[in-house]
Amino acid sequence: MLSVYSSDLHIHTCLSPCADLEMTPAKIVRKAVEAKLDIIAITDHNSGKNVGAVMKAASDFPLAVIPGMEVQSREEVHLLSLFRSLESLEEWDAFVYDHLPDVCNDPDVFGHQPLVDEEGYVLCFEEKLLINSIDLSLEEVIYGVRDLGGICIPSHVDKEAFSIISQLGYIPRGLPIDAVEVSSASKREDELGGYEVITSSDAHFLRDIGTKKTLFSLEAPSLEEIQRALQGEGGRRIIELL
Ligand SMILES: [Zn+2]
Ligand SMILES: [Zn+2]
Repeated sequence: MLSVYSSDLHIHTCLSPCADLEMTPAKIVRKAVEAKLDIIAITDHNSGKNVGAVMKAASDFPLAVIPGMEVQSREEVHLLSLFRSLESLEEWDAFVYDHLPDVCNDPDVFGHQPLVDEEGYVLCFEEKLLINSIDLSLEEVIYGVRDLGGICIPSHVDKEAFSIISQLGYIPRGLPIDAVEVSSASKREDELGGYEVITSSDAHFLRDIGTKKTLFSLEAPSLEEIQRALQGEGGRRIIELL
């Protein structure tokens, strides 16, 4: 039976150097539940290493956590990559890490990059600077994610920086992507390449979580079901962007 599920599929944790250190797993989950979200995706810059802790923090709550990452391609395009399982994300994480330049983070300039447990206790710090482009093209990223059964959604395509439109000038048609993400409903449909459109908060602070969301009609709160909705299978669909 289909039901309505409220999702925010673009949330950073404290591991992203540009995100607030308050973005710990337990606090993210609490805020998402307060915001009446049913599904969130955790999408740190070029890393998936805090996702397991968020999944653990959510295990006692009616909140599905989709394992994800926001990848920055060689063209400086941000892409949400979302996976069906933590194992697939971990495989992707190891691959991306090898393609991330060997540049050390300077916490005074970029911010700290802590790996934390579900309560937010710091386990260690990621030393490689995560906010760099990896040395893979947009298409290599998209096909790599698909090979692991995941989906790719170009992030905030309507923004002036790090978006497929800002970097390429337009959204190529025929890319094997499942949707594009907008940060506001300002773009006309014909500028969005004919793809399905979602919106999400791109939260870097707790207060941002759930401020933008996509309502789906699904049978269950999972990535498999979202993939089906984006293909319009069996009545599943995007209901509304809020
Ligand atoms: Zn981004
Ligand atoms: Zn982001």
